[in-house]
Amino acid sequence: MLSEQSISAIEHAYKEHYNPSLYRLIKFSGFGGVEVKAQGPWVYLSDGRKFLDLAGGYGVFSFGHSHPKVVAAVREQLDKMPMSAKVFLSEPQALLAARLGEMAPGDLQYCFFVNSGTEAVEAALKLARSATGRSKIIYVSNAFHGKTFGSLSATGKDAFRDSVLPLLPDFFQVAFGDIEAMRAMVDEQTAGVILEAVQGEGGINLPPAGYLEELRKICTEKQALLIADEIQCGMGRTGKTFAFEHWGIVPDLMTLGKALGGGVMPIGAVIGNPKAWTPLIKDPFFHTSTFGGNPLACAAALAALDILEEENLVQRASEMGKFLLEKLSELERQFPRIIKTSRGLGLMAGVELSETRFSGALVFEMARQNLVGVYTLNQPKVIRFEPPLNISREDLAEGLERFALALTKVKELFKLGDNLSE
Ligand code: PLP
Repeated sequence: MLSEQSISAIEHAYKEHYNPSLYRLIKFSGFGGVEVKAQGPWVYLSDGRKFLDLAGGYGVFSFGHSHPKVVAAVREQLDKMPMSAKVFLSEPQALLAARLGEMAPGDLQYCFFVNSGTEAVEAALKLARSATGRSKIIYVSNAFHGKTFGSLSATGKDAFRDSVLPLLPDFFQVAFGDIEAMRAMVDEQTAGVILEAVQGEGGINLPPAGYLEELRKICTEKQALLIADEIQCGMGRTGKTFAFEHWGIVPDLMTLGKALGGGVMPIGAVIGNPKAWTPLIKDPFFHTSTFGGNPLACAAALAALDILEEENLVQRASEMGKFLLEKLSELERQFPRIIKTSRGLGLMAGVELSETRFSGALVFEMARQNLVGVYTLNQPKVIRFEPPLNISREDLAEGLERFALALTKVKELFKLGDNLSE
């Protein structure tokens, strides 16, 4: 429990020293309280409330909050050596690189570690340009790759970009899913094509049948590198270890982040094949990061990979994902005026609302039901569900009941009828 005084000090600090507009948004969304503890899918607030977290940190908490095995691995590493001296060989870094290199399909073999998703994307973009000696980067509409300059240059939301233009040159956008537009754009000047196999912030969008397979062929033909951003959809979330595996393709580079640190430490990675890795094979200082691959973060990631296997979470995501999508379809039928459609893969699901005006109200009502659910950044009409992969069926069902209650409140609030026309 925090005292009234401590809470006021935190609120004051947000307003005056941290981020006043974020503070207003958090208050307005109904989340308001101060988090003090979290375990599994549950987040505890200082005022005694207990929230069920079905947003899962947008993919961070695939193993739940504070998984004891990850916490223990980090503690153990903390006692041994938290930071690398940088000039010696590092065991946690080496083990993690070997583990990921073995897990990744095809010839994806080499790893570089960073501290966040956007840094992984920056590294991948640099590798693609340098390895091919070309500059053109192609990205897709609605993509989200992060907010540093390179990643933002490949992010398909103008609102994040407009006030900081110009971004990097030679970045071109094509519509997600439009293979002919892609074919027309990829040429002998193209260094790489970057995309998420399942778009997260774009509104939980799946690629049309045959799209990724054909894209792989086009990239191979033009010798452009295919970069799969698995930062949100990777690490088992969609029911395969990496989402692109649903379509049987292997990219030249892939980026990981979010869940890689087991929900305990920040870490990102870029993993590539020998061709993509030529810049780093030639020059160890082609790309560097002071804190990237630090022993604490690598220890957390190694524990996370153990859990993925031991708890059979890839399979679990697939099974529980079916349950989640079935329940969401039922709600779609129950609330036809509010929900336009629902979709997803594994435990990465989105509920597309029929009108944007329902989004804020629904998030607010979910918060009133002590349920964390949020809309996607590029597409506010879509409420996303990304619960821990090890969530129990009971907790997930409970969360969906709370979601149904929130939908009922929104229906009442907007005086909506039972049919589409009302
Ligand atoms: N790529 C994808 C697909 C993401 O979803 C995100 C974050 O939401 C990023 C990149 C950026 O990651 P970070 O916020 O850790 O920089």
